[in-house]
Amino acid sequence: MAKWVYLFKEGNADMRNLLGGKGANLAEMTNLGLPIPQGFTVTTEACTDYYNSGKKITEEIQGQIFDALAWLEAENGRKFGDTENPLLVSVRSGARASMPGMMDTILNLGLNDVSVEGFAKKTGNPRFAYDSYRRFIQMFSDVVMEVPKSFFEKIIDEVKTAKGVHYDTELTADDLKELIARFKQVYKDAMNGEEFPQDPKVQLMDAVKAVFRSWDNPRAIVYRRMNDIPGDWGTAVNVQTMVFGNMGDTSGTGVAFTRNPSTGARGIYGEYLINAQGEDVVAGVRTPQPITKLAEDLPECYKEFMAIANKLEDHYRDMQDMEFTIQEGKLYFLQTRNGKRTAPAAIQIACDLVDEGKITPEEAVCRIEAKSLDQLLHPTFDTAALKAGEVIGSALPASPGAAAGKVYFTAEDAKEAHEKGERVILVRLETSPEDIEGMHAAEGILTVRGGMTSHAAVVARGMGTCCVSGCGEIKIDEAAKKFELGGHAFTEGDYISLDGTTGKIYKGDIKTMEASVGGNFGRIMRWADQFRKLQVRTNADTPIDTENAVKLGAEGIGLCRTEHMFFDPDRIPKIRKMILSDSVEVREAALNELIPFQKADFKAMYKALRGRPMTVRYLDPPLHEFVPTDPADIKALADDMGLTPEQVKAKCDDLHEFNPMMGHRGCRLAVTYPEIAKMQTRAIIEAAIEVKEEMGYDIVPEIMIPLVGEKKELKFVKDVVIATAEEVMKEKGEYINYHVGTMIEIPRAALTADKIAEEAEFFSFGTNDLTQMTFGFSRDDAGKFLQSYYSNKIYESDPFAKLDQEGVGQLVAMAAKKGRKTNPNLKLGICGEHGGDPSSVEFCHKIGLNYVSCSPYRVPIARLAAAQAAIKQK
Ligand code: ADP
Ligand code: MG
Ligand code: MG
Repeated sequence: MAKWVYLFKEGNADMRNLLGGKGANLAEMTNLGLPIPQGFTVTTEACTDYYNSGKKITEEIQGQIFDALAWLEAENGRKFGDTENPLLVSVRSGARASMPGMMDTILNLGLNDVSVEGFAKKTGNPRFAYDSYRRFIQMFSDVVMEVPKSFFEKIIDEVKTAKGVHYDTELTADDLKELIARFKQVYKDAMNGEEFPQDPKVQLMDAVKAVFRSWDNPRAIVYRRMNDIPGDWGTAVNVQTMVFGNMGDTSGTGVAFTRNPSTGARGIYGEYLINAQGEDVVAGVRTPQPITKLAEDLPECYKEFMAIANKLEDHYRDMQDMEFTIQEGKLYFLQTRNGKRTAPAAIQIACDLVDEGKITPEEAVCRIEAKSLDQLLHPTFDTAALKAGEVIGSALPASPGAAAGKVYFTAEDAKEAHEKGERVILVRLETSPEDIEGMHAAEGILTVRGGMTSHAAVVARGMGTCCVSGCGEIKIDEAAKKFELGGHAFTEGDYISLDGTTGKIYKGDIKTMEASVGGNFGRIMRWADQFRKLQVRTNADTPIDTENAVKLGAEGIGLCRTEHMFFDPDRIPKIRKMILSDSVEVREAALNELIPFQKADFKAMYKALRGRPMTVRYLDPPLHEFVPTDPADIKALADDMGLTPEQVKAKCDDLHEFNPMMGHRGCRLAVTYPEIAKMQTRAIIEAAIEVKEEMGYDIVPEIMIPLVGEKKELKFVKDVVIATAEEVMKEKGEYINYHVGTMIEIPRAALTADKIAEEAEFFSFGTNDLTQMTFGFSRDDAGKFLQSYYSNKIYESDPFAKLDQEGVGQLVAMAAKKGRKTNPNLKLGICGEHGGDPSSVEFCHKIGLNYVSCSPYRVPIARLAAAQAAIKQK
């Protein structure tokens, strides 16, 4: 027979998968001999079983629950449902990973119309007994039967007003009796005439089921997705003897941290309330006291509390978040866990614990949630100023940070205002590659359309610019340069503020503070670099991004997207001319005009890299992304080419594709127009030779051919590259080393990787395209339906943000293996958005890639995640 139920004294801290975090720690504290109200834990496996059995608790599990209950009755010398001295319990959820406030707790379970009288007599405190019962009815109704809390709050307010009192504590025993009667009526009305359950065992089983059910409530599902918690883990249920903080002036309840969770400062930090139960502290019913004041109120309790708090921190060797209750001068601990903390606090605490000799640098590195480093690298709002701000809307937190400035509606206006020294928020229906400069100029970007992986979001994250995307509530009139949101109208030049970390949009100019990447941050990163095996490169297309990434620890560029170099107003006419010309000669002439620009960019980037490697991807996007739509641009191009605007328009129309994502792009461009690859090779090799001469760096260019699906395709382009490179080197009289490799981003390339590796010196997994081609949906359109996939539990996360290890990951692992089989020296990397996602980084480590490449602001995240993966594997 399986064991579904564990007494606290049968478990320990290592059993968190089975007992949940709360249950495992209650067991551990019991073993440490701490004052824990005793109880038992129904396992997470029982929760899984509940779901697998069609939302039923089997006889076997119920039997074990009742056995444990009998043990608890004996332990307490009190019987469940007893008319004179009833045993009361709390029923508490507790998943493996803590999900604060996501699931539900019921207190005072076991009371009914009869036992409440016995309880009143036994405690000699009728007021307290009735208060406990009315709380129980309220919580049970809310949690178990989904009768809204507000129904009850309303009645409490009515009674308080009728009695002319201000606080709940001022209600008398008779007032509370009246509340009980009215609460039960509310229950009955809501439950179609069914009475409030009087049998404590029925109450208990209903409560256990409700906790299991709460695992799948909508806010828990959202929380899990945000925190990468798998849906099949389930929650445990803890049934624990009640202790009472609401028995008078020597009773109370509180929560405390062993260190400050927002700054990391040493010293106890917390709050308590005298004569209160459970949620009162956090519910803001009364203003709680700082924990240090307990030294005056109940000095003995405070001393004991501090001793236990210190003991727990030393035992777990981490900052603890504790819940406690004092019943008539006797202290009980109800919970401890490693406390949640902000990123700055995490870093402070980890470094302090190392200095205190409590943990090793390796452990310190593992204590920091890699993703949370985002918080450190971007500006934040001044806390006081933010509190005073008015929220006018919210949307997707697409790129973190805080920004405040004047709204502008076009990239040009944004750029102009920025040049005048203004702080700018660019507001667009959606952004396109042509908005790059305006996006660069902006402090923050707000879009009406687009998801977390829309153009705006991806580019903003790359630049480290705050971005809130997909705000459908905005009514925008781009032409008239105005929008409405949250009942306010904004025109060009009005101030708004954006929080890219929460997705909130504020009215007005809220003060921001620059990120400070202080000494402890550097210390953690240096430790991380010692432990990691993966190299970390960056995706960068400009010298500024490159400088930035190098500062953040990038060891090179894993992806330089050359097309981003062509959107500049000086250059785009030339690329347009190239695209629209009919003859090789005219195309080559136009391309020759582009060489100096491209070469200058490469030189600047090689210099910014100071000898670090750079992988340059050849022209990738479908050509019609470059063609003009603006009549003035069409006219200019026509004049330049000696054509009529109509002829130009016709040529542009010819470029239209039904499915550009799968159209004439990537290496297909170089197959049809080899002169493009020639031009790019010339620019790269000349740049490398010149920078070598000027700076002495030994540059080995890495040339990357995109979107290859067939070995011969790669070979064709590679031959063009080699011939050109030889020609350039001969001209210059200087011979350098260079590598030619490819992106693996088409499933066919992954499947035939062994063949492709015969022609490639390196592979870089372009997991954005590989994901969209493997799933068969594009990342720009996925936003339209992914939400339904989450709510129907088909997908748990966005495969464009977190690598789908099961499907796409299998292709990556297979291609890596096949590639190395025919080419043992093959260098392997990843350059999709996933390169900065911690769980994806771990996967890359496991399958033995050489490096990951991610946007500059994610470089520290990837460094830390790579170190954590290496330590974990050990
Ligand atoms: P959460 O996981 O949301 O923090 P908990 O299960 O910790 O929920 O319960 C919330 C609060 O209820 C606790 O902080 C504590 O104050 C109170 N509580 C829970 N169980 C008991 C108990 N056995 N005796 C007294 N109070 C309890
Ligand atoms: Mg709790
Ligand atoms: Mg691609």
